[in-house]
Amino acid sequence: MRNIWAKFAQINCVGFVLLIIKRSCSLNVKHMKEMVLNTVVKVCSYDELQPADREIVDAARAATANSYAVYSNFNVGAAVRLADGTVVAGTNQENAAYPSGLCAERTTLFWANSQYPTQAVEVLAIAARTAQGELEKPIPPCGACRQVILETEKRFNKAMRIILYGAKECYVIEDGMKALLPLSFDAGFLE
Ligand SMILES: [Zn+2]
Repeated sequence: MRNIWAKFAQINCVGFVLLIIKRSCSLNVKHMKEMVLNTVVKVCSYDELQPADREIVDAARAATANSYAVYSNFNVGAAVRLADGTVVAGTNQENAAYPSGLCAERTTLFWANSQYPTQAVEVLAIAARTAQGELEKPIPPCGACRQVILETEKRFNKAMRIILYGAKECYVIEDGMKALLPLSFDAGFLE
């Protein structure tokens, strides 16, 4: 009998502690501040793009023809305009050992930064197509590419103009990767 009462008291004690934890958590939630992260994306059609933007988008669209995407059949092209006006384009490169491949954005940026290490990247455009044709929705960069784009901006201390092409509409991000990668990790944390 004594054991039963001891067990009962133990269960109630645990329940009481859980109740206190639950109450204190809900109290803390009430006192939390909110941080609002704004991302401004301009939406327009291809025809509404500035001529200079259309030129770099066209380079990305044309590059999709050179994509090596034999496994996904998802052909991505990227193009950048450098500070000296040079335009560099690249594509995704797949591999039978899947992680060995690379996205179009990183292929393009790594090549551009290798060949023109003193030229900041001012504009980046991305386009994609499948067997059905060009994507209707704007194609966004993956998370890993966002991190590399951010690093490139930090390297040259210059935010890029980023244009995501879609056949139906395009997204234009004017203030660089911080808009697409908020709360990002950068070299500042390593100091
Ligand atoms: Zn990527």
